[in-house]
Amino acid sequence: MKLAIMGAMPEEIAPILEKVGEYRVSSVAGNKYYECSFGGVEVVIAYSKIGKVFSALTAATMIERFGATAMLFSGVAGAISKELAIGDLIVATKLCQHDLDITAFGHPYGYVPEGSQFVETDERLRVIAKDVAAEMGIPLKEGVIATGDQFVADAARKEWIESTFAADALEMEGASVAVVCNALNVPVFILRAISDAADMDASFDFDAFLESSAKVSADFIMKMVDRIGG
Ligand code: SAH
Repeated sequence: MKLAIMGAMPEEIAPILEKVGEYRVSSVAGNKYYECSFGGVEVVIAYSKIGKVFSALTAATMIERFGATAMLFSGVAGAISKELAIGDLIVATKLCQHDLDITAFGHPYGYVPEGSQFVETDERLRVIAKDVAAEMGIPLKEGVIATGDQFVADAARKEWIESTFAADALEMEGASVAVVCNALNVPVFILRAISDAADMDASFDFDAFLESSAKVSADFIMKMVDRIGG
């Protein structure tokens, strides 16, 4: 087994690189990939840069070039569900692309022919996450995550995403990573810690909480790696 651990921004993988300590670095298509063995598990770590295109490229590279056989994504997100406060964790059961729109042809939002409106994550990895959360004594919400090439800082857009997809959180990479992993038959797990509420204060909150929330998510992912290895 080789685990891919991916984020979108440097802040999302910094706590992970710090934890693994030593690694080999290589560059592919404008991104750096960090390989090492951690707790008996081979891992490849990278951040993709923001958005669906860069994250799809990185996920595919980790699988095709680096031989990753499972994908763990760690990062931050905007909350939709009122149950989610800044710093809370959410695991995606399924994800959608909220900005994908060929409704002019009678299709639902988020759907293209031969694709699906929602893409699911791996149940076995979600069970491991639940076990880890129980052991740590922390709440772990499961829900729908909506992805789009858009930083949402607007109550109306957020409400539209909630009513259209019943989404609990939103971000800019999860669905594209999950689509790539499903297409390449690699189990995928998407974890996010809340950095903001996708409303008019979102950019202010994001800047204030990016680092602390990214660390909450990264620390949880490393507990999962410990469990997978042990
Ligand atoms: N501050 C950055 C831009 C951040 S974009 C800069 O200036 O360069 C937001 C990132 O955090 C994306 O990777 C996305 O996945 C996640 N995210 C957090 N809150 C979000 C929100 N409200 N809307 C969309 N993405 C959000």
